Amino acid sequence: MECRPGCAACCIVISISSPIPGMPNGKPAGVRCVNLDDDLRCKIFGRPERPRICGAFQPDPLICGQSRAEAVKIMAELEEMDVAPFLDEKQCANGTN
Ligand code: SF4
Ligand code: SF4
Repeated sequence: MECRPGCAACCIVISISSPIPGMPNGKPAGVRCVNLDDDLRCKIFGRPERPRICGAFQPDPLICGQSRAEAVKIMAELEEMDVAPFLDEKQCANGTN
């Protein structure tokens, strides 16, 4: 699937254990990444300082759902099940925001 413009659910809802520019200890679940701009796009997209884990993420309808609201719900449920490390191993965020 294509990454959904204006979504950024993955940059907010899930926790990221890797250091992120401006967030050296990573990002807790539910906390907006400081690198998101006002349009919910990644300000460091394509730059070397963007965490590897972010660049590795591929949007997937199983996680991203059919809407932003669904993505938020799915990711919040994954966090509640404490499977965020699984997400962190594979990915964190999206390609277009
Ligand atoms: S990867 Fe998924 S959750 Fe993240 S911004 Fe793209 S569509 Fe939304
Ligand atoms: S892609 Fe990574 S660095 Fe960029 S806004 Fe999302 S979580 Fe932050």
